[in-house]
Amino acid sequence: MCFYDQQIFSCNDHKWGRFRAHCNKEYRTGETCGMKLIYEATRVNGKCQNCKKYEVTWRKIVQATERVARWEAEGINPVSTDKERLNIAAWQKELKDMELLKQTKMRTI
Ligand SMILES: [Zn+2]
Repeated sequence: MCFYDQQIFSCNDHKWGRFRAHCNKEYRTGETCGMKLIYEATRVNGKCQNCKKYEVTWRKIVQATERVARWEAEGINPVSTDKERLNIAAWQKELKDMELLKQTKMRTI
């Protein structure tokens, strides 16, 4: 077990930072072992990259959905409407993948 800095984002996700110290077990070898312990945790303003990406994709879906609804109401842009629907489906899949990834990550900590 070795000690690292940790950054905690406003979304409560965290990221490992700089290596700080060896644990007693690994001290002699000078190697770092796989286990990470918190040396110092710092709060960071703003969300982590994953959550930011999630929000951007989420906003794209909302905007595209509104566009499609408007086009359908006005009976225009049938080709674009189809294309936009495909985009929305792809983005929704992206969000699902991100959620899945996050859950897997949570379980391994
Ligand atoms: Zn996050």
